[in-house]
Amino acid sequence: MKDIATPTRTKEILEKYGFSFKKSLGQNFLIDPNILHRITNTAELGKDTGVIEIGPGIGALTEHLARTAGKVVAFEIDQRLLPILEDTLSPYDNVKVIHKDVLKADVKQIVQEEFAGFSRLMIVANLPYYVTTPIIMKLLEEKVPFEGMVIMLQKEVADRISARPGTKEYGSLSIAIQYYTEAEVAFIVPKTVFMPQPNVDSAVIQLTRRNTPAVQVKSEEFFFTVTRASFAQRRKTILNNLTSQLSEGKEKKESIVQALNEAEIAPSRRGESLSLEEFARLSDALYPAFSSSVQ
Ligand code: SAM
Repeated sequence: MKDIATPTRTKEILEKYGFSFKKSLGQNFLIDPNILHRITNTAELGKDTGVIEIGPGIGALTEHLARTAGKVVAFEIDQRLLPILEDTLSPYDNVKVIHKDVLKADVKQIVQEEFAGFSRLMIVANLPYYVTTPIIMKLLEEKVPFEGMVIMLQKEVADRISARPGTKEYGSLSIAIQYYTEAEVAFIVPKTVFMPQPNVDSAVIQLTRRNTPAVQVKSEEFFFTVTRASFAQRRKTILNNLTSQLSEGKEKKESIVQALNEAEIAPSRRGESLSLEEFARLSDALYPAFSSSVQ
């Protein structure tokens, strides 16, 4: 069977159905089977593995997933793609397409219904670039029981997600995702493997869920409030960012200085130099005086 992900077959399918791309839905389809092999290899799929895909498009990645995994459930928001997928994926009996915005779906419930009996669950997707972060955060925060994610996204976002302290890419997104997972860029993808070509370079990132979060904190919500506040203005010191971002407390600045001392963090440091462990100590030290600041 000829791959969907070739320029000729993709063009044939698009013409057959008179399909026009919607930029607003992040529709950039893969037209290079080599990239798809690399994605499925990175995810280490086998017949014991269930896969959730977000945005199957015309099925380029979906068919590779169906060939290597036990079962694939794919969420697609664009109704116009449903008859196309029905046609292109007809050779595979282990794929289910759900017509839904993944951000509005009860993914946990669907996992319970669709993947009973599978020993592993993976998320594998070429994500729509306009909503990469909300999709990743939803799946992490709602505690969908997947082992890992292998996802294609903008290279710039992949770099921020996997960034280490002390780099200019490191920020509250790195912390939010590394709190739940070990994040690594698997490989970089050139623009030429997409139709139409996006304006930015892409990367495939591998997120492996940790058994327990990277650090233990009194309150997760407050920890994330503190990390976001610490990066509000990157050039400001941690003391100045926290003073302007945390809501009014009694003798605010003094309480923050005291918490920084307790956490053994110099007030003149910048957020980008703090490790997750230091943010955890700081958040716990600030918590008694500022727990009402949770955003
Ligand atoms: N997987 C295909 C491929 O690699 O060729 C298509 C990937 S394309 C980058 C993103 C896909 O996500 C599109 O098919 C788009 O319609 C779909 N999509 C966009 N927003 C979505 C959402 N909120 N929920 C589900 N699917 C969405």
